[in-house]
Order: sequence, then structure tokens, then C-alpha cells
Amino acid sequence: MQILVTGGAGFIGGHIAQSVVEDGHDVTVLDNLDPYYDVGIKRHTIDICREAAQASDGSYEFVEGDVRDADLVDRLVAEADVVYHQAAQAGVRTSVDEPRKPNEINVDGTLNVLDAARDGEIERVVLASSSSVYGKPEYLPYDEDHPTTPVSPYGVSKLAGEQYARVYNEVYGLPTVSLRYFTVYGPRMRPNMAISNFVSRCTNGKPPVVYGDGSQTRDFTFIEDIVDVNRTLMTDDSADGEILNVGSTGNIDIHTLAEVIRDEIDPSLELEYGEQPTGDAQHTHADVSKATELLGYEPSTEIREGVSQFIDWYQDNRDWYEPLVLQS
Ligand code: NAD
Repeated sequence: MQILVTGGAGFIGGHIAQSVVEDGHDVTVLDNLDPYYDVGIKRHTIDICREAAQASDGSYEFVEGDVRDADLVDRLVAEADVVYHQAAQAGVRTSVDEPRKPNEINVDGTLNVLDAARDGEIERVVLASSSSVYGKPEYLPYDEDHPTTPVSPYGVSKLAGEQYARVYNEVYGLPTVSLRYFTVYGPRMRPNMAISNFVSRCTNGKPPVVYGDGSQTRDFTFIEDIVDVNRTLMTDDSADGEILNVGSTGNIDIHTLAEVIRDEIDPSLELEYGEQPTGDAQHTHADVSKATELLGYEPSTEIREGVSQFIDWYQDNRDWYEPLVLQS
């Protein structure tokens, strides 16, 4: 199959691209190498995917370009059987500082992808949405019918993107699926996230700094589970037109997460506390029963096991990855 991964030099898109190219598919990645975190990780990801293509029957082409460029998106989507649209201004905190940017990239960019696919023969457009669309919990865990009241510009932009996808499905019959990811982590993760930050500090003998009192809870979801559900959607049409939660097996508060990481790396460290940034949701917790029912989604990596795998990866890749975390 011919697969287009927008944002495929980034964390999640890079893992999807690597996985499908390893299986012998032809992959094109569109990514503008946005420097909001160090592009060294993205160049590393591109190299890994190129090597994977050489070792498989698949092919890999990297196109440096912008999802806001409608002509370019038209051309690339026209050649694709499946599009994994991951490109975005990701991250809640950046969006609080620059509230217009997620609208330009996440909303206009998504419309470019959907519109390019509208008249084609495309098998499926899979969109990366986010638990950030929920915002304030009225009950937990969130099911997909929970009200959406995002508390950041980023959350608003992801909500608009998935609603456009739903409408393109209803009005034009475009096969779309939106996946609401819940805090994804794993090798090559964005360096500005809690897990990479805690691991980096503990590895360097510094205490992890927990924002607020650490009572915030998250469904940390291991990257392999996210790749698996995206891979299922390559050929499975049972969820066309749907919006699905994809979370993890267990919910954990940030304080406990910091302790788990601290205990594995350096139990002598005392946790420290800092101010909680604006725009962060207090709790996220996914009810994944809809994804389980429609796609057989079963998150398999429990947080302690996933964190342990990430720590091993971190130690093996410390020479190039750690400087990027420290500067983020
Ligand atoms: P990421 O920042 O690592 O990846 C996004 C990629 O998009 C980057 O490589 C970036 O260069 C690229 N990009 C940004 N603007 C672009 C543009 N205008 N044109 C082309 N490419 C552009 O982030 P990620 O963590 O891999 O997130 C992937 C997707 O998943 C995003 O849509 C994000 O909103 C969503 N998501 C991620 C998480 C998470 O925990 N990581 C949670 C919920 C949703």
C-alpha cells in the first residue's frame, strides 16, 4: 500500500512510518521539521525509517513541506491509499503562548488533508486527535459522549479537526477515523514531556520536579499500542466515521509516576514541586470500550513496564537524546 504520514518525522508519526515501512509498504512522510523542539530527534527518526526501507521490500520518501501548503498536500494525498494525519502543533503549553498557531496548523492543515482526499479513491484518512478535547471532566473515565469543553487553544483546534473529519465522512462519504490519543510515551518521545523530563533528571542525580501537588492523573499510553491501533485501521473499515478514545490500561497520578521513575533510577532522590502551568487538564482517563468493540483495541503495556522499557531505551540512546531533553 502507499501510505502518507503527515508529521511523520515526529514522535508518533515516526513510529507509524517505521512500522509500516518495515512491513514492506511504500511510505511518504510530509513534515516541515517544525523547530518547536529540537529537530535532531526528527532527523534521527528519518534516518531510522530510511534504514528500515533498505532492509525491507518497502520504500521511504521524506518530503520537507507544510500541511498548510494545499497544492503540495493535494499532490501527496492523490498518490496515497491511506493517510495518517499526525502533523500538528502538538502540546498544550505551546498553544497557550501562541494561541493562533494551532488553529493555522491543526485546523487549516487538517482541512487541506480532508479536502485533498474528498474526491479521491482513498481507503482511509486516520486523524490524530487528543484527550485535550474533553477539558473539564463531568465524570471519569471519559467515554466519547462526554461533553467537550477544551481548556486550551490546542484542545479547541483538535476538536475542530475531528469534527471536520466527521462531517467529511457524513457529507462526502470520506472514510475517516479520529483517534483521541491519551498522553503517549516511549522511545523518541517529545523531550518536553513529563516522563522524558523525570527520567533525564533522575539519571543525572537531580530530583524530578512535579508540577502542582502531583494529584493530576493521566492515562499514559505506550507508543506500541498507538501504532497497533493505527495499523489496524489500514485495512479495517469498522470504525469509519467514528471518533475513538485510545488510552491505556491504567490511570496514574503524576506524583506516583515520579516515584516509579525515581525508584527505578535513584531511590535516594526526594521529589521537588513546581508551579502547575496554565492549560493543563487536571485529569484524563479513557474509557476505551468503543475502540475495543469496533477494532479489538486492547492496550497491552502497563505503565510500569512501559516506563521501564523507556528507561532502558534512554540509557542506550543517552548520548544524543539527553542533550535534547536538557535543553527543552
Ligand atoms: P510531534 O511534535 O513529535 O509530531 C508532530 C510532527 O508534525 C512534528 O514532526 C512536526 O515537525 C510536524 N509538523 C508540525 N507542524 C507542521 C506543519 N505545519 N506541516 C507539516 N508538519 C508539521 O508530536 P507527537 O507527539 O508525535 O504528536 C503527533 C500527533 O498526535 C499530533 O497531531 C498531536 O496533536 C497528537 N497527540 C499527541 C499526543 C502525545 O501524547 N504525544 C497526545 C494526544 C494527541
